[in-house]
Amino acid sequence: MTLRDLPSVHDLVNAVTEGLDPTATAIPQPLLTQIARAAIDTARHRLRAGQALSATPLEDATATLRALLHPSLRSVINATGVVLHTNLGRAPLPALNIPAGYSNLEFDLAAGRRGKRDTHVSALLEAILGAPAVVVNNNAAALFLVLNELASGGEAIVSRGELIEIGDGFRIPEIMQRSGAILREVGTTNRTTTEDYRQAIGPATRVLLRVHRSNFRMTGFTARPELDALVELGKQRGVPVYEDLGSGCLVDLSAHGISEPLAQSSLAAGVDLISFSGDKLLGGPQAGIVAGNADLVARVRRNPLFRALRQDKLFFHAMEPTLRHIALNQLDQVPALRMIRLTAEEIKTRAEKLVATLGTKVSVEPGESVIGGGSTPDLAVPTWLLVLHSTDAIKAQRQLRSLPTPIIARIEKNRVVLDLRTVLPEEEAQIAEALSAL
Ligand SMILES: *Cc1c(COP(=O)(O)O)cnc(C)c1O
Repeated sequence: MTLRDLPSVHDLVNAVTEGLDPTATAIPQPLLTQIARAAIDTARHRLRAGQALSATPLEDATATLRALLHPSLRSVINATGVVLHTNLGRAPLPALNIPAGYSNLEFDLAAGRRGKRDTHVSALLEAILGAPAVVVNNNAAALFLVLNELASGGEAIVSRGELIEIGDGFRIPEIMQRSGAILREVGTTNRTTTEDYRQAIGPATRVLLRVHRSNFRMTGFTARPELDALVELGKQRGVPVYEDLGSGCLVDLSAHGISEPLAQSSLAAGVDLISFSGDKLLGGPQAGIVAGNADLVARVRRNPLFRALRQDKLFFHAMEPTLRHIALNQLDQVPALRMIRLTAEEIKTRAEKLVATLGTKVSVEPGESVIGGGSTPDLAVPTWLLVLHSTDAIKAQRQLRSLPTPIIARIEKNRVVLDLRTVLPEEEAQIAEALSAL
């Protein structure tokens, strides 16, 4: 195609309209014109720059329109075995009952006057953690807010071994700097001692910061102070200790092979403030939870930035029941926790039952599920996998992904594998159907 061949806006609108299902929703003319104009502009720019067109203006406009008309955010079946899959929304949502209309989000029904949205989760969080807590948008926001409140204009002392990047360009040191805190790095990449923190404390020190290394691991000649030693130092010098726990494990999962530090243990050790994510090992919707010393939590809550980082009503609908299940130890009611706690044997039984209907093209083999989500690095737990014996794994994986309810599977040793750990029992029929159709 050359510049001369570009259609007029009018002709392109007509061509796009011809391709539409006449029974479908009527599309406003100005919207069609805008889409057609954008497609022509894109093509003109590329042609002027001497580039080949990746799509004709008609293909481009049709694709834009299709994307507008069809849901972009869709349910998928996670057969990867990665429980906290960042690309698939981290912790799976529980079945939600979100009524349309108004709610008592900020209304005290007993008193008949203005209330606080915090109340919908604060008592539950305090019941679980044994300390006051507030929630913000996510843990990155929590880190930012805590540092802004405690250390803006002063120094936050942090180990060089904990200045990590978590993924998607989220670098702890950068967010710390934006909070107004001055980073005072101590120790070396691999070794930091309590003495390093002690020597760095001065009149400008506002907080001792400890950061969970998330999905990064160091082995060999390494050292970091025991939490107790850091807390002791903070108390001696009158400097609060704040720990960014990352994945925020609230229930003991050690029997299931997960040895994450418990949020409650950090508070019991005397850490003044902790923060962690809501959608990692907690198993809830996206959130950042800040908990600890009542005065410090109250200060964080009063910080004007809290308002900019607060949660919306949809969040409370999902978080309140999740926290209630945790407080009441109903762990199987929290999907992520139920999945993590499944034994390999339970998964094997389900897998064998599913495969029984499929003949020889699928077998059941031992493998590993991954907890994921920036929790303990590449933490894996045993599972059983459905292994697909198809000639072209890439093609089969793509076919599964293009189903009306996409099934996301992994490839291992050139074979498509599906891990039922992260598949809901009610999704198994769809998997069986998809595999038999392949
Ligand atoms: C995941 C993580 C964060 C970021 O949490 P979000 O809830 O994704 O904002 C911050 N710190 C650590 C140590 C983490 O693991």
